[in-house]
Amino acid sequence: MAHLIDGKALSAQIREEVKQAVTQRTSEGHRAPYLAVVLVGEDPASASYVRGKAKASAEVGIGSDTMTYPDDIGENELLDIVKGLNEDPEVDGILVQLPLPKHIDDRKVINAIDPKKDVDCFHPESVGNLVIGLDGFQPATPAGIVEMLRRSNIETSGKHCVIIGRSNIVGKPLANLMLKKGMDSTVTVCHSRTKDLPSIARQADILVAAIGWANFVTADMVKPGAVVIDVGINRVDDETRERGYRLVGDVDFEAVEPIASHITPVPGGVGPMTIAVLLQNTLKAAVDHSA
Ligand code: NAD
Repeated sequence: MAHLIDGKALSAQIREEVKQAVTQRTSEGHRAPYLAVVLVGEDPASASYVRGKAKASAEVGIGSDTMTYPDDIGENELLDIVKGLNEDPEVDGILVQLPLPKHIDDRKVINAIDPKKDVDCFHPESVGNLVIGLDGFQPATPAGIVEMLRRSNIETSGKHCVIIGRSNIVGKPLANLMLKKGMDSTVTVCHSRTKDLPSIARQADILVAAIGWANFVTADMVKPGAVVIDVGINRVDDETRERGYRLVGDVDFEAVEPIASHITPVPGGVGPMTIAVLLQNTLKAAVDHSA
């Protein structure tokens, strides 16, 4: 039976660390770190993510404000809002919740954020720092995975880490983090065009699934004793639940759990770590800002 990596408990540890650091800073006369969140439109999932981020910020003493704009806001107007936040000395971190409406170019908006306030680590300068291994903001979900591995005392040096998924928010930045000095994994990234993916997955000491496909990773893709990290969040119909669905990951948990040495559950695995890293990034922005 695999050891269950408890993302909720590990994220609570990180949030407590951030809270203590914020308390320490304010007791030294600094103002509380401040995160500006920009939400465009009324997508219920985005609104719920943003509520979660605001609540988690408040719990650790980070100030935050969610600025909500209608779906039909113009691109230039949004760029001006970001510019205003860049110039506001009271704002340490800026987060623009994605996706944006189709008439707005996400990339233009991300590129407009001051890299010093880019707590989501999506700006090209932040991504460049990550690739060459410089200190900077951490990409939230991948860094959350790294924290899980570290805090669970999982050896990564020389281990083969196979990542399924090559997105800009999970697969690619995670590959760079796992390659970094200190992590020292040998990394393979698989994607929708990869040939014979199961045989590559079976070579993994650490297997990460970030695809968005319920139960994609089956028992025959997992080497006995592998560490399995499930990033996926998928809705599957479930009439026994009041809301009519339940959330599952990209890994067939029931089948894989008996084979793996460690495994993350969904929900309660990678998800809670993502917000914890956002709080760490906002604290870092405030510390750097006042330095
Ligand atoms: P994405 O849609 O941007 O990327 C999916 C990736 O999967 C692509 O690179 C694609 O090449 C790969 N893929 C698709 N089909 C494949 C196949 N048949 N074989 C191999 N590879 C295939 O997704 P994303 O934003 O990286 O998210 C992936 C999943 O992780 C989603 O379920 C998302 O909800 C979840 N997610 C969770 C968190 C969290 O905090 N837990 C954060 C981000 C994303």
